[in-house]
Amino acid sequence: MNIFSYHQASDAASAITLKQAGPTTKYLGGGTNLVDLMRETVEEPETLIDVTHLASSIEQCADGSLIIGAGVKNTALAAHGAVRTQFPVLSRAILTGASAQIRNVATVGGNILQRTRCRYFYDNAAHCNKREPLSGCDAVKGFNRYHAILGASESCVATHPSDMCVAMVALDAVVHLHGPAGKRSLPLRDLHRLPGDTPEIETTLHPDELITSVEIPALPFAKKSTYRKVRDRASYAFALVSVAAALDLDGDGNVNDVRLALGGVAHKPWRAMRAEAHLKGQKADAEHFQAAAEAELAEAVGLRDNAFKIELTKRTIVAVLEELKGEKA
Ligand code: SF4
Repeated sequence: MNIFSYHQASDAASAITLKQAGPTTKYLGGGTNLVDLMRETVEEPETLIDVTHLASSIEQCADGSLIIGAGVKNTALAAHGAVRTQFPVLSRAILTGASAQIRNVATVGGNILQRTRCRYFYDNAAHCNKREPLSGCDAVKGFNRYHAILGASESCVATHPSDMCVAMVALDAVVHLHGPAGKRSLPLRDLHRLPGDTPEIETTLHPDELITSVEIPALPFAKKSTYRKVRDRASYAFALVSVAAALDLDGDGNVNDVRLALGGVAHKPWRAMRAEAHLKGQKADAEHFQAAAEAELAEAVGLRDNAFKIELTKRTIVAVLEELKGEKA
């Protein structure tokens, strides 16, 4: 690990000013990913700006929406009463991630900006376009069980590792940002990028922008929502495939509205818009659930070790929808 200096920012404006001071300066959340990357010399920032304490509250608004400070710990968010009762998909997603010890330290902002766990990205002896642009990608023909089946490119087949973000994308979360040019907001689903020819560019953040909070809009039917994560062991493992879903049925058993997002399948949390479009207005039955899953995975491409994830994703979508259909509103 390189030698670095550490600053604790007193507010967002001073954090941004400090960040602009050096090209290798990084914001520091809980450090549960960044410190690993520094130990492996994948990241070598000269300065870290601690932003964990700048926004660490959860505000429940009168309309039912939530404003979650970027410094809120994952544990606190999962345990919050409004999250558990109004947005159970979010609480459940967070509790499937990492370990209790890591969730106690990891922040919302850091969770969003964590980097892929592709093993070649962490191995300086491997070819990795994300770590070193135009150097190649050893995962394409290497060990790629955990890699992408949707939206990948020849340059990179990595996946985004977050569970929390999958639930947030399903819930139409909005990210609030503060940067040198002022404040702005954007949907979380537009924050992470697909790899294309530039997998080293992972987000649409402008230089030195800081995530200050995440807004979860009110969604009454999210009371009936859940998260299912399929993985190689029962805890402390990243998703092979995950599904976040909320389902709203009318009195005749038709789909009024639905939210679906997938994890473990793409370079970004994957909002399943095709599946949602197939489901709306249709009978909530096995035939339509299957058709929606088929539509979403129509362009999926498997690699040597992960082609099974295409069928696994379809089956997980159907299983989650069947589970929600069986729940009382
Ligand atoms: Fe690097 Fe992406 Fe290839 Fe992994 S999949 S080795 S992160 S370029």
